[in-house]
Amino acid sequence: MSTVLLVEDEPHIRRFVRLALEGDGCEVYEAGGVREALRVASAHPPDMLVLDLGLPDGDGMELIRELRTWSDAPILILSARSMEADKVKVLDAGADDYLTKPFGIAELLARTRALLRRRAGRKQPSEPVYCFADIQVDRSRRIVTRAGEAVHLTPIEYRLLCHFIAHPGRVLTHRQLLREVWGPGQGEQGHYLRVYVGRLRHKLEIDPTRPAHTLTETGIGYRFEP
Ligand code: CA
Repeated sequence: MSTVLLVEDEPHIRRFVRLALEGDGCEVYEAGGVREALRVASAHPPDMLVLDLGLPDGDGMELIRELRTWSDAPILILSARSMEADKVKVLDAGADDYLTKPFGIAELLARTRALLRRRAGRKQPSEPVYCFADIQVDRSRRIVTRAGEAVHLTPIEYRLLCHFIAHPGRVLTHRQLLREVWGPGQGEQGHYLRVYVGRLRHKLEIDPTRPAHTLTETGIGYRFEP
């Protein structure tokens, strides 16, 4: 059974989300503020967190930064803030995904399951061959095929693809992708990223203008969906 730490100060939202998560087979711990959340998380390290950003004794951002010094449990943000800049800030701080309030409970459960699956996958020794749609990525031999045909990728395109498939379902910000794929100091070169994602789409997507796997998160970054 997966354990989820639910951090939310509004009692009716907390109850509603807890019941839904329990109905989905999760064990739920609760906290109503930053300090309580840190206490509960260290007493019962959760498999993931569902975190409201506006808390009475502090900002959820502080909690993310503090937690990320010792835990890599996925964090799904519930936020009343819908500004792109706010979303980028929490994702850059180490959150994995976000939902803007008001949200649908089916969407919350789907995102939660995706993050828990990713975490469960990470506990296994990672397989060198990764498959999605008709694409096969053999990371031990650096060979990518589509429907059995070899696909030629440049080293940057290949690194970008490997970074995407290492983080399925996760929203990756422009800054994170530039840092991981191009290296530190490339944080402002957003146009490189657009160009290379465009090339990957042409090589891997059935319809590059309506991608099914390399999705754009407008103003924020990209999300890889297997
Ligand atoms: Ca709140």
